[in-house]
Amino acid sequence: MLGNNSDYLLSIEDLTVSFDGFKAVDDINMYIDTGELRVVIGPNGAGKTTLLDLICGKTAASSGSIKFNNKELRGLAEHKIVELGVGRKFQTPSIYENLSVYENLEVSYPEGHNVLSAIFFKTTDKIDNEIHRIAKEIYLEDSLEMEASLLSHGQKQWLEIGMLLIQDPELMMLDEPVAGMSVKEREQTADLLKRICKERSVIVIEHDMDFVEKIASKVTVLHQGRVLAEGNMEEVQNNEKVIEVYLGH
Ligand code: ADP
Ligand code: MG
Repeated sequence: MLGNNSDYLLSIEDLTVSFDGFKAVDDINMYIDTGELRVVIGPNGAGKTTLLDLICGKTAASSGSIKFNNKELRGLAEHKIVELGVGRKFQTPSIYENLSVYENLEVSYPEGHNVLSAIFFKTTDKIDNEIHRIAKEIYLEDSLEMEASLLSHGQKQWLEIGMLLIQDPELMMLDEPVAGMSVKEREQTADLLKRICKERSVIVIEHDMDFVEKIASKVTVLHQGRVLAEGNMEEVQNNEKVIEVYLGH
């Protein structure tokens, strides 16, 4: 019998990172199911982005464990964690501004495509179909030939989500994906996330409470590096501690 196996896709236990004695993430436990859409909220500086940095290997933890499909991620290189199926979108969109939407998706396709080969070699039908399918999902079907620099800020956010989707990660992590979006774009993003999580697990960090209400199944509230509360939106909204430190502001 294996001792520590769990049915969770992601098991975070006793996770801590200390920057010169300051614990940005302080003894966090968090479990994400397969197919779960989890929202992480909390005031500025709560440790939300740092938590994602730890999961994707950008920042090394001081202690604790991060198991993905029962495999320890701590100590693995970022690219290795991506290969294992963890995709992460940063707060600011990182896309190739001078490539088209199509080319941005093409270079993100996992099988050995780099920027140059995408420009100079013909794409296979399989990849082409996949690019069109993803473009439709991210509302950019009619903008495939457009240079990415000409997209609106919201469209750039979608494109980056598409660039992750085309890699088909089992776990997708999004840091404030609706920042800077219009009301309409926020609604479309909520619909997009609900569709995405049918085929994978998603962790979304978000500030905007209207948006959280639209998408949330389960919410984790962070405060000063610790889990302050966890539950559905209603439970969290009625939690005294949460009202005090976050919603009450
Ligand atoms: P959030 O995303 O919830 O707003 P962060 O995770 O970005 O918060 O930051 C949590 C705290 O950790 C902040 O006080 C921030 O200044 C601090 N912090 C984050 N990264 C570092 C670092 N590399 N070195 C020192 N302090 C850091
Ligand atoms: Mg942040």
